[in-house]
Amino acid sequence: MTASDITTADRPLVLEFHEGDRTMAELLGGKGAGLAEMTRLGLPVPPGFIVTTDACRAFLAAGGDPEGLWDQVDTALAELEQRSGLTLGDPERPLLVSVRSGAKFSMPGMMETVLNIGLNDEVVAALTERGEAHFAWDSYRRLGQMYGRTVLGVEGARFDDLLTRARADAGVATDAELDVAHLQRLAHDFRAIIVEETGKELPQDPRIQLREAVRAVFRSWNGERARLYRAHEGIPDDLGTAVNVVQMVFGNRGERSGSGVCFTRNPVTGEAGPFGDYLPDAQGEDVVSGVRSPMDLSELHRRDPEIDAELSRHLEALERHYRDLCDVEFTVERGRLWILQTRLGKRSPAAAFRIASELTDEGVIDLDEALTRVNGHQLTTLLHPSFGVGEAAPLATGLAASPGAAVGQLVFDAATAMEWAALGRDVVLARPETSPDDFGGLLAAKAVITSRGGLTSHAAVVARGLGKTAVTGIEVMAVDPAARVATFHGDHVLREGTVVSVDGSSGELFEGSREIQASVVATAIQQASPQAPRETSDAAGQPVDPTARAVLRLLEHADKTRTMGVRANAETPEEARAARRFGAEGIGLCRTEHMLMGPRRQLVERVVTDEDAAGALAEIEATALDEFTTLLTVMEGLPVVVRLLDPPLHEFLPDLVDLSVDAAVTAAKGEAADPVAEKRLAAVRRLHEANPMLGLRGVRLLLVHPEVAEVQVRALAEAVARLVGQGRDVRPEVMLPLVAEVAELTAARERLEAVIAEVGAKHGRTVDIPVGVMIELPRAALTAADLAAHADFFSFGTNDLTQTTWGISRDDAEASFLALYREQGIIAIDPFESLDEVGVGALVRTAVEQGRRTRPDLELGVCGEHAGDPASIGFFAAAGIDYLSCSPPRVPVARLEAGRQAVLTAGAHPTSDTR
Ligand code: ADP
Ligand code: MG
Ligand code: MG
Repeated sequence: MTASDITTADRPLVLEFHEGDRTMAELLGGKGAGLAEMTRLGLPVPPGFIVTTDACRAFLAAGGDPEGLWDQVDTALAELEQRSGLTLGDPERPLLVSVRSGAKFSMPGMMETVLNIGLNDEVVAALTERGEAHFAWDSYRRLGQMYGRTVLGVEGARFDDLLTRARADAGVATDAELDVAHLQRLAHDFRAIIVEETGKELPQDPRIQLREAVRAVFRSWNGERARLYRAHEGIPDDLGTAVNVVQMVFGNRGERSGSGVCFTRNPVTGEAGPFGDYLPDAQGEDVVSGVRSPMDLSELHRRDPEIDAELSRHLEALERHYRDLCDVEFTVERGRLWILQTRLGKRSPAAAFRIASELTDEGVIDLDEALTRVNGHQLTTLLHPSFGVGEAAPLATGLAASPGAAVGQLVFDAATAMEWAALGRDVVLARPETSPDDFGGLLAAKAVITSRGGLTSHAAVVARGLGKTAVTGIEVMAVDPAARVATFHGDHVLREGTVVSVDGSSGELFEGSREIQASVVATAIQQASPQAPRETSDAAGQPVDPTARAVLRLLEHADKTRTMGVRANAETPEEARAARRFGAEGIGLCRTEHMLMGPRRQLVERVVTDEDAAGALAEIEATALDEFTTLLTVMEGLPVVVRLLDPPLHEFLPDLVDLSVDAAVTAAKGEAADPVAEKRLAAVRRLHEANPMLGLRGVRLLLVHPEVAEVQVRALAEAVARLVGQGRDVRPEVMLPLVAEVAELTAARERLEAVIAEVGAKHGRTVDIPVGVMIELPRAALTAADLAAHADFFSFGTNDLTQTTWGISRDDAEASFLALYREQGIIAIDPFESLDEVGVGALVRTAVEQGRRTRPDLELGVCGEHAGDPASIGFFAAAGIDYLSCSPPRVPVARLEAGRQAVLTAGAHPTSDTR
């Protein structure tokens, strides 16, 4: 694109305020569109015009002024002079203007603005003569400062240093208190700095000032700050900024003048009523830049109740008009109010819920629209417990791997964690890193901290799944489990039992105990859940906390609106109860390996080494019967999807290296080898895999070493038969992991159904347990039509599906290179965090389509971590998924997002953009 391409288009390069409106943010920028809209509404906006983003894009593309630009600016300027009755550069009636950046999306403070354009020696002299010396010199030194920095590129610190010195000289605290002599000296010194640094004078011709300022604003689009901000916020680089030229109004004109920034409601709490800052005798930049501490808006009321009342009226009008929280910049000049800017206000997560809900009460928006004004990310942050404010400095900082706040005594191994937890102590498990073997310890601990590992390390993934607080990658911590100490920074030693506080939201670790605040919102959700177990549900009343009330209301509406069900991934009775309290409509993934962890690993070992295998299997079956019975009872009336044993068997066995060393030591001592140890070593060798993730696991295990999975199914069928016999409404389903080929499914199904039928026959009733398939290998997705013919349901295991589609190990990825990939811009998001819609998503869509073609009523679930990720839920809704299944604490997030997506899909309500 070149400058002439743009000017030959028939769009004007300059528009006056009354020619635009709020829909034109693309062309006029957000600030320009807001000024135009307020002008239309009849609000007191100083007159002005807007140089469009077209002009900016043309300028940047061609490296020079687009043709005809200054003619159009001159025409608009003439119009502005007429409206204001003032003239640029006229000493008697001088027009001063601001030249302000403003892109389509608000980029606060990222681009440039120059105030007080139009001042020169002559105008300042005339103002001084008319008794306005203070105002004139204060404005003139500001022009020198801003023009010097923004247009001529002088380092801002040079001006700031002089200001600081002037205040010290004068013995005053703020710039506003400087007297005329000081201001005059500053204005001169600033100009001298400009000459010294650039060899150029501050132009005395106001038109040159204006043109140079417009060009500087164009250029500021590509300034470093602006580029970084855009990259961070995902704002495209090719939009360009508009330039607003606005008649100056002056808050620095004495007692009855001032500037302020305010919101139509409190953006932190969401409470109704105007909220903001005011600074008497100041220009707006003083409020924003923090050079003086502003006063509360009530100060304006105290000083000038009429102006305050007028402001309130305008705020109400704006909020009614935009139907949402607005923020406003305003200036009072000698008792007259001017509005200088408005936009949709940024807000905290708590405020987002409260405002959306209360706007509904006020009849401004309906509940559907309210739902589009909040999102799952916001709800996530409202659900975590947190530490109250405190000054304590952290002992160490790692990666914020799983949010929340926890306090407990340090322990260094899973066994101690479980032992101490059983005694009722709160523990924090510290490890160099964790492995599946530490699961019991993770369950028992309040938090886990590791010195190694990233955001997708085992500790991080498991902790997030369990809703436990976790901080990983604490590099300054060295954990020595054998010595039972952790050493920080090489010399600060903490022993087992030392109390620490872990902030999983910030990644900080503190020595000693900090106070934890439970999330009021999480508590309210659990009390109000329609699925809550009876013993906890009757305490429910309307929560008093307004945010909690708002969340409940929008969640209830989301439940009515959503088309997708929400289940939880849960395996213990406590987790199942939590799932119900958070509103889960079933269990979508009950992993069964936890039944074989900890002390019960011996049972698997006995099966593998054939040391009283029958006895071990009987024990496994008895435990499983117990656990399934409790779980199904807790989940009565709701589906429970049980996944058969998934991990490779050697995960339950001792380490190959350890055993080999033991054997070598025994041999070296010339002692006779223990036959049991020999058998164990042989078994571990036999089962050892170079690449266990792609090894003998999942359904393969069931087909090759069927014993364990078979007793699990027998236990499940037995539990079901007994509970049904007692008249209980239980709804079990069985799911086969890691299926790649339909023959695996049919063979496994045959075995399972034989076991189930056998149990049924024993009880004289048919036991009904649907059998489904996990789609977690590309081949399964690609042959889903065949699988669907033999499966009662699909459940997408998107963790493994991501792993196998990308060929990236989920446990090792972060440590090795995913983080670097992100830094280098090769990937934008971690595919294990948010679903990769292009690749993994294509497989999901294929499987959905093939599966439904074979079997239109095929039920489709998602049980990977992505099911609780707000950014991925929209995809699942669009793909036609029937239910999401995520960790219990994420259930409310999934409910809300699913409802929101349903409204968005229906299309009537675009999300409001508050950037
Ligand atoms: P930003 O986008 O960084 O807020 P602005 O363009 O809004 O930058 O301007 C910076 C400051 O100058 C704001 O406080 C604004 O209110 C003030 N300001 C801008 N134009 C005028 C004007 N015409 N009269 C008085 N103050 C102004
Ligand atoms: Mg502003
Ligand atoms: Mg899997």
